[in-house]
Amino acid sequence: MPYYRIALIGGDGIGPEVVQEAARVLKAVEGGGLHFSFEEAEVGAALYRRTGEDLPRETIELCRQTDAILFGAAGLPDVRHADGTELVPQITLRMVLDLYAGVRPIKLFPGVPSPLALPEGATIDYVIFRENTEGLFASLGGGSKVGEDLAVDTLVITRKGTERIVRRAFEACQGRAERSGRSLGKVTCVDKANVFRSYAFFRQVFQETARAFPGVRTDFAYIDAMTMYAIQAPWQYDVIVLENMFGDILSDLGAATVGGLGMAPSGDVGDRWALFQPSHGTAPDIAGKGIANPTATILSAAMMCRWLGRQHRDPLAAAAADRIEAAVGNALQDPTGRTPDIGGAATTRAASDAVIKAC
Ligand code: ATP
Repeated sequence: MPYYRIALIGGDGIGPEVVQEAARVLKAVEGGGLHFSFEEAEVGAALYRRTGEDLPRETIELCRQTDAILFGAAGLPDVRHADGTELVPQITLRMVLDLYAGVRPIKLFPGVPSPLALPEGATIDYVIFRENTEGLFASLGGGSKVGEDLAVDTLVITRKGTERIVRRAFEACQGRAERSGRSLGKVTCVDKANVFRSYAFFRQVFQETARAFPGVRTDFAYIDAMTMYAIQAPWQYDVIVLENMFGDILSDLGAATVGGLGMAPSGDVGDRWALFQPSHGTAPDIAGKGIANPTATILSAAMMCRWLGRQHRDPLAAAAADRIEAAVGNALQDPTGRTPDIGGAATTRAASDAVIKAC
């Protein structure tokens, strides 16, 4: 009987608010043998203020022992290290658990306003594969500042790190075609290969890895041009793969085109562990007001179910993912299911209630 232990980590700001709604949705799709149990753990800036630690050993242990991690958001602008950087336990977790694939679907749901005027029949539905453990973030905590005149962070691209994220992107492209019954799509490599050796190497490894996927088309764009294409013609993308920092930026831009950060889920996936969280941060400006959009976190919970389904060859978990996604789509068609950031007036609770009802 599929019984999954989930580490539930709310964090700071709106993190706990949206995570608890996603947990309610997971409870709503239990049944037929599928069951979730939640074990809560602490991370973040408020914890750091209280204890001096933002990512305790017990939290890491719980993440290792459970079947999957559902995470809210962490960090607050007024709680910083001496060097001025914010606390980022979620990024440390990616490194510690080797969650190398940052999977960020960018999908426009009917009824949700986009700032773009799309041509008749066009929609936005692509997935960003952000390399999560190296690139510019390899420097995390390791950059150096020399006196008051110089600071350096180093960008690292390895063959192993690039091969594994590129392979994941191609496999996802195949999976998307299978699920939708469409013919094989394309994977776009986004880089700055015209200027930097590191990105030229990323592209070289992409091309070498692509040979194992002959049916999938390949495509290339420089990051600066890509920010323009993502606004001008987002419907032409299927799967995009890119370095860590570029992925960080492009995924927020993509989120803006489909209704904002409240609509953008994500998964940080490794070979053994996976963490699912909304793409947004702690949004301190709306924390405690009961108006945060829970959709990104609910869709992240759906991604978690899909991942559990694959890891455990469990059709019930896969079906739960489909049910949650369909319910989100249905709930958003009705304005009463939409929070203020996407043009409605629903509270966080009312928005997730609408999804639960649709489940
Ligand atoms: P981080 O640096 O931690 O990733 P960020 O700079 O991306 O954070 P967020 O805290 O995610 O910033 O949010 C930016 C703004 O977007 C917020 O101030 C808030 O107004 C809006 N926002 C983010 N998430 C949501 C949400 N779930 N519902 C409604 N509005 C949101």
